[in-house]
Amino acid sequence: MLYTKIIIHYDEITLKGGNRPFFERALLFNIKEFLENVEHGEIYRDGGKFLVSINKKTDLENIKKILKRIPGISNFHFAVSEEKDLEKIKKKVVEFLTSSDLDETKKTFKIEARRADKKFEYKSPEINAKVGEYVLENTKFIVDVHNPDLEIVVDIGIKECFIYFNKILGIGGLPTGTTGKLVSLLSGGIDSPVASYMMAKRGAKLIFVHFKNRTIGGANDGEEKIQNLAKILSKFQGKSKLYIIPFEEFQKEIIAKIPAKNRMIVYKRIMFQIAEKIARKEKARGIVTGDSLSQVASQTLENIEVIYNSANLPIFSPLIGMNKQEIINLAVKIETFEISIIPYQDCCSFLIAKHPETKAKLEEIEKQEANLEIDTIIDKTLSEIEYKIF
Ligand code: ATP
Ligand code: MG
Repeated sequence: MLYTKIIIHYDEITLKGGNRPFFERALLFNIKEFLENVEHGEIYRDGGKFLVSINKKTDLENIKKILKRIPGISNFHFAVSEEKDLEKIKKKVVEFLTSSDLDETKKTFKIEARRADKKFEYKSPEINAKVGEYVLENTKFIVDVHNPDLEIVVDIGIKECFIYFNKILGIGGLPTGTTGKLVSLLSGGIDSPVASYMMAKRGAKLIFVHFKNRTIGGANDGEEKIQNLAKILSKFQGKSKLYIIPFEEFQKEIIAKIPAKNRMIVYKRIMFQIAEKIARKEKARGIVTGDSLSQVASQTLENIEVIYNSANLPIFSPLIGMNKQEIINLAVKIETFEISIIPYQDCCSFLIAKHPETKAKLEEIEKQEANLEIDTIIDKTLSEIEYKIF
């Protein structure tokens, strides 16, 4: 194998003035942790990028999959490195081009010099001209500066020179943990895993919370499904905690005392109150949901107002302005879709009314809630919660 380095470019960290070292350290730490079980060499920084040394035993496909999921990575390249000597660089570019597995359609090229080392003896246009000329003389490729099949980057770093052309896109955003913790309400549906991904991409570390009716039981109770979703999401944010909250007591109480049309609203309000308690315990600063405006009855503006009002923490719904198909496309991309569509007994299905309220009024809901033993049941529920780590 030809490649000796992976060059990692980061995303918005470059915008972070004085805080930049904090974000860089976090990303470097995360990359090291994610690559722990993959064969590789040193991981270090050179100017404004990270480098991973690789060798013949490195599983490139696996590393590619891993890096494509790490928040904060804008893009990366498999590259070869060379000493900062123009003659050697020219030869290396030709060797790189002739030994790479390029398909027949690639005919034209352009050299794109970059200089992190501003003291390098040649300026970028000179590097382009000299290396370009050498490639022209020594390979079958022809120059096209406007629309080349191959844009070969000659990147003069601080310590060495890197040569690459194969840009692989990452998910961008900010390194996990740098923006703080959030509790994410994870149902078995399509939306909430996507919402979690969106916030993970913004640097939040998510603690997953799932409400489960334990009386459903059996293989189809959704628990395995939730665990599999948490496992996939942990591929983005690293080690993840999943709380399972027993909810059968509340459901019984709600069904007994709340009119059918309002059950879903009350259920969601209690869910947020419990989520807030967990958030406080975990020192998380908000709650994430998969709500999308007016997708279902509980997501009308009126109902959202009444439901979100029950928690004293900010509630984040990153899918609020997205259409179902847009959400599905993302679910497919992050590989949660296949799991989300497996049928299961959703614990809310008992609470769905034929004619649900779409314009809830806080006063009326609060009056009905006064009949519930909310505090007693919340305390009992909190004493029975379990969590798992993925
Ligand atoms: P999803 O596809 O995520 O289930 P949905 O469009 O089906 O969402 P609802 O079922 O009304 O809508 O749920 C809205 C949001 O409430 C979910 O995205 C999720 O964040 C949260 N939620 C719903 N049910 C549960 C549950 N059992 N456990 C945890 N969170 C839940
Ligand atoms: Mg749902």
